[in-house]
Amino acid sequence: MGIRVNFSGRAIRYTEEEIAVVVEAMRNADPLTQGTYMRAFESRFAAYQGVPQGSCFTTMNGCAALELSALLCRFEPGDEVVIPSHTFTASAYPYVKKGARLVWADMDLHTRVVTARSIEAVLTPRTRAVVVVHLYGYVADMPAIAALCKEHGLLLIEDAAQAIGSELEGKKAGSFGDMGIFSFHSHKNITTLGEGGMLYVRDPALAALVPALRHNGHCAFGFERADYWKPAMGNVDLPMLDDVPLQPANYCLGEVECALGAKLLERIDSINDEKRARALRFMGALADFPQLEFHREESRRHNYHLLAARMTSGPEARDSFIRAMHDEKGVKCVVQYMPLDRYDYYRRQGMGQAACPNADLFYDTMVSFPFQHWLSEEDLEYMIEASRQVLSRQG
Ligand SMILES: *Cc1c(COP(=O)(O)O)cnc(C)c1O
Repeated sequence: MGIRVNFSGRAIRYTEEEIAVVVEAMRNADPLTQGTYMRAFESRFAAYQGVPQGSCFTTMNGCAALELSALLCRFEPGDEVVIPSHTFTASAYPYVKKGARLVWADMDLHTRVVTARSIEAVLTPRTRAVVVVHLYGYVADMPAIAALCKEHGLLLIEDAAQAIGSELEGKKAGSFGDMGIFSFHSHKNITTLGEGGMLYVRDPALAALVPALRHNGHCAFGFERADYWKPAMGNVDLPMLDDVPLQPANYCLGEVECALGAKLLERIDSINDEKRARALRFMGALADFPQLEFHREESRRHNYHLLAARMTSGPEARDSFIRAMHDEKGVKCVVQYMPLDRYDYYRRQGMGQAACPNADLFYDTMVSFPFQHWLSEEDLEYMIEASRQVLSRQG
């Protein structure tokens, strides 16, 4: 049969008010990049996150924010970065590009994120930084991980691309570490027209470098110019980075996207709450099939960006479930996040070694259900019923 419930490439539909904000910015923004809308988005995002003003920077996507964070680490040859093997590739390769060697930390089989213990197990004297990914939208145990990083003098970076709005002990995902990155990609719980990102930098001295690194190395001259047009409109000078390759780029996000991003912050909590309520309903409706194991979290620690389960009866049962859901019911489930050490790219980089049995087991048995915010009630009910029928038959 044809596809009835697709795994959509788009997470949300826009309200008329959000569309009006976009149209207004299209008409009036001047300039169309790096203007008042960008400053408003950064300022409101910092307020939402509960972090100081001036510490958040829009970027054209989450990957650009990760690359800036990698640059700010100022790696030296031999430096290692600990990162989960079970994550999206964009969490990892920016650090390879900027000179680090990746060391893979295992995930917890139940929560699907790294733990202080799994990170500690792979620390070496060369570890410089730890990247924690709040995968699927669930905040890892940041108090314990931050304490571990402090004890060992390590930079702590949070990839909160999937976890906007998730919180633990009253603190938002992405606000616990030295840096945090966010994505407003088409798939994420809020999206700025398909692409967009944010970087949080805690240390004001490092944060001061971001605007120049984000925009071609441009900065102000350190002296008063008698003629505003001489010697040039802007300076290019990053003295603090002279000891590492100076690698600015243009990572800016346009004004229309920024206007929309600021507006969407008004709706993120309700989007997350609605997704969580639905996820809990879905799990409840399948609770009599224990072979399909979910991670149940009733608090705002999980925003249920994705709805993922594990088929404890093994890889063949998983494959036959996905096949039947697709071929017979028209529901397109997918499998996500092959452990990165298993990809040829990371193997060729000499990063093919990992001791991450949980990540391997999870990946080989996981099922990710369609879970875009705009999924209709009918389609959600249909997906529950279809899952129940296929699972009953599998026994
Ligand atoms: C989406 C995502 C990214 C990259 O974000 P983009 O905005 O698509 O560049 C990084 N890490 C994780 C975990 C993601 O899900």
